[in-house]
Amino acid sequence: MKKATVAFLLAMAMAFAGCGAGEEEVKNADANGDGGNEQTSGASTEENSDAASGGDVLADGVLNVGTNAEFPPFEFVGDNGEPDGFDIALIQAIGEQMGVDVTVENMEFDSLVASIGSKIDVAIAGMTITDERKNMVDFSDEYYEAVQYVIVPSDSEIASAEDLEGKNIGVQLGTTGDFIVEDIKDATAAQYNKAVDAVNDLRNGRVDAVIVDKNPAQVFGEQFKDEIKLFDGESPEFGFEKEYYAIALPKGDEKLMKSINDALAALKEDGTFDELVKQYIEN
Ligand code: GLN
Repeated sequence: MKKATVAFLLAMAMAFAGCGAGEEEVKNADANGDGGNEQTSGASTEENSDAASGGDVLADGVLNVGTNAEFPPFEFVGDNGEPDGFDIALIQAIGEQMGVDVTVENMEFDSLVASIGSKIDVAIAGMTITDERKNMVDFSDEYYEAVQYVIVPSDSEIASAEDLEGKNIGVQLGTTGDFIVEDIKDATAAQYNKAVDAVNDLRNGRVDAVIVDKNPAQVFGEQFKDEIKLFDGESPEFGFEKEYYAIALPKGDEKLMKSINDALAALKEDGTFDELVKQYIEN
């Protein structure tokens, strides 16, 4: 990621965190003036040897984060063309707590888990903790509760899980919405890389319903309010289970896990987390 972008995202995270862009934070954004990349010496190494820092993946002073910026308000492509959103601001603030730089790579949601430990160090993407994913990655402490929502055209008669049987249902590939459709009798999952494309096909009549997480569903509901309506999947008519978002980490890296969980706890404690919720989710 470009230096200007890192600085911009960090400045935003700090603005929302309510702290000034003091020297410490600026130093953190670009500790050795090389654009924030490949730091192997100097201030960054000192910071990295601090007890608050994470495991070996942070030896270069950089936390490489993967996301899929197609999931508002948690992540979306901002006006400057770079990932923005609650998760991005949160991971920037976590990096700041840990004393490392954060770079964010935008990739397909379905590739995130498999890329942890190679292309990226961790992933933050409104990712639900699931047993299946736990076979491949570890999860930080959860940071947000969610549930799947069902979106249908305003004039649709679909109003329950039973009504979804045999239907063509738009989902984002590899998401928990996709997994739910697998269990609906005779239903077909129309899989998209972007949830918004599923919603557009719903508006065009190509799918009967879309299943997607609550907050993005609410964003789409607002955007297309004359054309679509939403059902809370937690309602008795649908009976979907609660989900919990967490940061996905390489398996077995306890040092990194502790470092991230400590940073998350500190941000909850000092009010930063709640400010980010207000700024991005409850605005
Ligand atoms: N919470 C869902 C999942 O983890 C969707 C995440 C997303 O699309 N970014 O599968």
